[in-house]
Amino acid sequence: MFLLAQSREQHMTKFIIITGGVLSGLGKGIVTSSLGKLLKSHGFSVTCIKMDPYLNCDAGTMNPFEHGEVFVLRDGAEVDLDFGNYERFMDLDLTSDDNITTGKVYRHVIEKERSGEYLGKTVQIIPHVTDEIIRRIWKVANDTESDIVLIELGGTVGDIESAPFLEASRQLRMELGDDIKKCFFIHTTLVPTLSVVGEQKTKPTQHSVQELRAIGIEPNVIVGRSDKYLERSTKKKISLFCDVPEEAVVSSPDASNIYRVPLILDEEGLTDYVLKKMGLDEMLEEKQPDAPGLETWKKFLERYEDPTSEISVALVGKYCDLKDAYTSHEEALNHCRGETRTKINLKYIESEDLEVEDNVEKLLGDVDGILIPGGFGTRGINGKINAIEYARTRNIPILSICLGFQVSVIEFARNVLGYVDANSTEFNDRNENPVIDLMPMQRGIDMMGGTMRLGEEKVKIDEGTKAHEIYGKDEIMARHRHRYEVNLDYKDEFEESGLIFSGKSTNMKRMEILEIPDHPFFMGCQYHPEFTSRPMKPAPLFLAFVKAIKEQKE
Ligand code: GLN
Repeated sequence: MFLLAQSREQHMTKFIIITGGVLSGLGKGIVTSSLGKLLKSHGFSVTCIKMDPYLNCDAGTMNPFEHGEVFVLRDGAEVDLDFGNYERFMDLDLTSDDNITTGKVYRHVIEKERSGEYLGKTVQIIPHVTDEIIRRIWKVANDTESDIVLIELGGTVGDIESAPFLEASRQLRMELGDDIKKCFFIHTTLVPTLSVVGEQKTKPTQHSVQELRAIGIEPNVIVGRSDKYLERSTKKKISLFCDVPEEAVVSSPDASNIYRVPLILDEEGLTDYVLKKMGLDEMLEEKQPDAPGLETWKKFLERYEDPTSEISVALVGKYCDLKDAYTSHEEALNHCRGETRTKINLKYIESEDLEVEDNVEKLLGDVDGILIPGGFGTRGINGKINAIEYARTRNIPILSICLGFQVSVIEFARNVLGYVDANSTEFNDRNENPVIDLMPMQRGIDMMGGTMRLGEEKVKIDEGTKAHEIYGKDEIMARHRHRYEVNLDYKDEFEESGLIFSGKSTNMKRMEILEIPDHPFFMGCQYHPEFTSRPMKPAPLFLAFVKAIKEQKE
């Protein structure tokens, strides 16, 4: 065991492992992101791992209806929406290595077995799967040389799927000498209030801590998610029954907005407690000169919480029943809210509802701007086309992204160029005018997972265009996730009729940004600006969109 630890432990990283109890969807990801923000504010370098106990290798093949949006990292990894929060709160660019899924781990172990690397041994969950999990954790620690690695375990303690990850976490703690300074556990649980008696109930927390302890893990901090702050008596009870000091029981009440959570947890004493128990307080003096503090975050929050104007934006999508499907769009708009002090009322509209002509005016008549997000498949496309036509002909600011960008091209081809059958080959591969077509490199691909054009690519922007004015530079890096693109055969026709492509890939073959110069704000992009928007650095296209709406309203 000792030898194992020595060979892996190259960098003096400290680990904080965040587990969840009672039920999922507690906002564990926000607690993790907030803690990262707080530790970074003291000058520590922090990175983050998410362990996802599902058998998918990554989130790329998951339906947004079930799992929320698929977030794309700089290196093209397709991950779940928690990564968006990590990157936004901690201002990090994470990589595929930071997402350890059961699928990735088992795939690797089975491939190793097939190639004979286990030398005839029986391959088992303990130690082979757990070893592979720990190897991956150390890889991140060593590659990033971070002071602190936060590790969030997806799912809930007690799930069958989580067991190997919890066991690996327990082993990691032992490898590190069972030292709280090196490996620290935070358990986030639900503390419900019974409405009849108005009493905060601690029993679910007690049970989930018992479950953790049965596996050999003792939490060092318990974060209680509840509608209000935990009462003193509730904290005392949790402290007594779960064997943690009272100061280690932290309230995480429902917050008016997620960006407030770091401040709440800080006031609750979480940062001080973690710093003290992990011996990080002794390093503070050395870290202090680089410490960014929380001042800019607080300023952002002040502006966010005190808007001076108000606009409404329609998001025309196909997964509107689950708002998590559009988290990054909503957050990008929230970043603009903080920047411009504008309250943005987001109205989710199911694109299928816009397929009925009469509904278009009814549903869009009261909005100031329209946002068409990305997506896949035919359902609802005609509704999107109607929304785009409405925005184009009525001079309503519109921003369309990825699939939205492609549908804007189809709408223009049908209604301005007169190609009534114009379409994407994604929806109809026999049409006469495939203005959107499969990218050549996608031909012949039959595996769905991880095979799109994914991740960061350079986009060149033409001078003298609105896009250039917005970005103020000749090239940007942007994240992608698509298989289809604008068919170059039609490019000149579009441009002669007033829709220009102001951004292109470096080989000039891939259209990346479109705009109609004669419109107050008609812009679209093949890439995803929502993935790189950050609280104090809103995505330029989103910001320009919001500003255009405001200008038009004034
Ligand atoms: N379905 C389209 C494509 O594959 C758009 C993808 C997206 O919106 N992310 O190109």
